[in-house]
Amino acid sequence: MKIFKSYFFAFLFVSGSVFAQDEIKPERQPGHTNQNKFKQLYDEFSTPNMFRTASGAPGPAYYQQQADYKMDIELDDDNAKLYGQETITYTNNSPDQLKYLWVQLDQNMRAKDSKTPLIGTSGIGPATSSSGAVGSFLKEPFDGGFNIEYVKDTNGNDLPHMINRTMMRVELPSPMKSGDKFSFQIKWWYNINDHVKDGGRSGYEYFEENDNRIYVMAQFYPRMAVYNDVEGWQNSQFWGRDEFALPFGNFDVNITVPADHILDGTGFLVNREEVFTKDMMKRYEQAQKSYDEPVMIVTQAEAEKTEKTKSSSKKTWKLSAQMVRDFGFATSRKFLWDMMAVKIGDKDVMAVSLYSKEGNPLWEQWSTKTVASTLKSYSRMTFDYPYHKAISVHAPMGMEYPMICYNFGRPDKDGNYSDRIKYGMIGVIIHEVGHNFFPMIVNSDERQWTWMDEGLNTFVQYVAEQDFGKWHPDALSPNDKTFPSRRGPAKNIVRYMGGNQDFIAPIMTKGLNTYQFGSNAYSKPATGLNILRETIMGKDLFDYSFREYANRWMFKHPTPEDFFRTMEDASAIDLDWFWRGWFYTTDYTDIGIKAVKKFAVTAKPNKEGEALANRYNVDPNSLVYFVEEGADGYKEALKESTSIADLPTVKEYVMDNFTPEQQKAMKKAPKYFYEITYEKPGGLVMPIIVEYTYADGSKERETFPVQIWRYNDKEVSRAVATEKEIVAITLDPDLETADVDTSNNAWPREVKESDFDKFKNKAKN
Ligand SMILES: [Zn+2]
Repeated sequence: MKIFKSYFFAFLFVSGSVFAQDEIKPERQPGHTNQNKFKQLYDEFSTPNMFRTASGAPGPAYYQQQADYKMDIELDDDNAKLYGQETITYTNNSPDQLKYLWVQLDQNMRAKDSKTPLIGTSGIGPATSSSGAVGSFLKEPFDGGFNIEYVKDTNGNDLPHMINRTMMRVELPSPMKSGDKFSFQIKWWYNINDHVKDGGRSGYEYFEENDNRIYVMAQFYPRMAVYNDVEGWQNSQFWGRDEFALPFGNFDVNITVPADHILDGTGFLVNREEVFTKDMMKRYEQAQKSYDEPVMIVTQAEAEKTEKTKSSSKKTWKLSAQMVRDFGFATSRKFLWDMMAVKIGDKDVMAVSLYSKEGNPLWEQWSTKTVASTLKSYSRMTFDYPYHKAISVHAPMGMEYPMICYNFGRPDKDGNYSDRIKYGMIGVIIHEVGHNFFPMIVNSDERQWTWMDEGLNTFVQYVAEQDFGKWHPDALSPNDKTFPSRRGPAKNIVRYMGGNQDFIAPIMTKGLNTYQFGSNAYSKPATGLNILRETIMGKDLFDYSFREYANRWMFKHPTPEDFFRTMEDASAIDLDWFWRGWFYTTDYTDIGIKAVKKFAVTAKPNKEGEALANRYNVDPNSLVYFVEEGADGYKEALKESTSIADLPTVKEYVMDNFTPEQQKAMKKAPKYFYEITYEKPGGLVMPIIVEYTYADGSKERETFPVQIWRYNDKEVSRAVATEKEIVAITLDPDLETADVDTSNNAWPREVKESDFDKFKNKAKN
């Protein structure tokens, strides 16, 4: 008999839920609630195959196409025109037969008949500036499209081709079979845009003083489109926002510019001795051995002298690059140039900066050091930087290409700059240099998935910014202990996540079609990864899996599924719920404390308990009773209760059944009992992070895994038994989950001081 009693008691007490069974309302029953939050991602994902495996790795039949370029480029500085002749050798590594090739003509976005200006909406306000009126209504559009002079095979025969806006279809003389190579030539030229006035990721900035330009050139040549197992030809048009999808290849590029220009770009400088002066060679050799401070290759005094005159002769710079997906270069007679070496693994990489005097003193101080620091951080988080250099060029915008990127951040005319300018410049350099890893090496499809490069890159940028702050405390302002990262910490995304849903799109939306582009494609995915790293997976598991993804897809073309699958494959954490909520919906986190009930424990039977005992046909005196605060008998129970272990019923009905050794294992003697109900007004499921504050001031944390929400998406309860009285409960105390409304995160409810009140009270004190 005793055995039965103890069995029943244990069942009743340990499971806890029996007490509440009658209370469960139909909508709280499993199966009734919305379980989509935990539904596996099968419908959304493509089926794994021989090209891409279920683990998220490239499969045994994975292939990628190759496009090699030989180009002769000439800059007409007087007229701001760029001329080029290129030979593309295309290798068909796909198992498919190709009848035609697609070539990207990105500059046609700036053609006179471009449709890009027509997809923006416009209206008329009460007034506008006269220059605004001229720009909107009086000016002919700039003609910056490609002029294609010919498309020929290597025997000089014209190849039939058709241009559909920014895409050109080139007909092949005969279909390319798997493994075939085909070479063809394109001759072209175009008018270079003033990217300060007309915008764009490429173009020139004009300096009236001495009539000079700084050119930062990109997508300046007809480029092969990607053909692969997921898209076929990725020939989605370039509207100006969604960036690029490009195959890897080798480049040999000769660029002819005025002889007094300084030029750098993607690839090894093959003819350094032809284009460098003896002094420059000597300084370059010094820079290769300088690991702490950059060495000036061209000084400010030299650049200032050069920009005052104009050479009428020309110079050709020869660059050669292997396994790059693109090519960019910068050229000007205004450039200062500095370099230093940085050890990455067992290799030396050159960190390089090109800037005009307008960037100083900021650029001389921080650009090259930031490049070096970035390469170290990103290499730690992914793989050793495989190229031999990384260049940061001073320009009015931020944009990235293999080995070279363009970055903003300019002091005023007197050389003064605010913290905002300095941090902005360091942040953008870290970001754009970081793009070497995503998408220049981990070569995702930017045209389709902005987040795969911007989001992943912005996430590592945050890690690299924090490293930079640690490694260069002298770059921080006295008020800042760490680098003030704009994107990354969960609390920084709250305003966006909790904003008007009419203007929020899921991350898995093509960039062109999203609202609030920066928050959608940069901040939100970066923050999501940060939450995974710091809260859900932990740093070790996250970092291992993230590195695995980077290494699996280094010099290859990953898709979103490849990322999602790898992160699970390498960590043994089912993250389908997270990808579904954070990437495929616009749901936000809002978890709160709905109610806290406090109980005292007693052996004295009460009515409800007795009814339960009768139903199960057990002795009512064998039960332990919980009396809620405010109910009859609560005060009395609280007075007599010491701890549950001391109740006579526990001793009489349970302890006798246990050996002294088993009794010793019952170490807890809880005295205070709480039922805490958590509500979830937000659509996202998240772990519940709870901090209990006890009467003695000590604190304890407990995290309930996200699966706690699997049967009920609206509210869940937990019983807590403690030896010390709980006086306060706080949810998500470190603001790790991007909870959009923290007013329900505390018990007892805190009366929130508004920012204004805080300011007022501070002023009083
Ligand atoms: Zn970016």
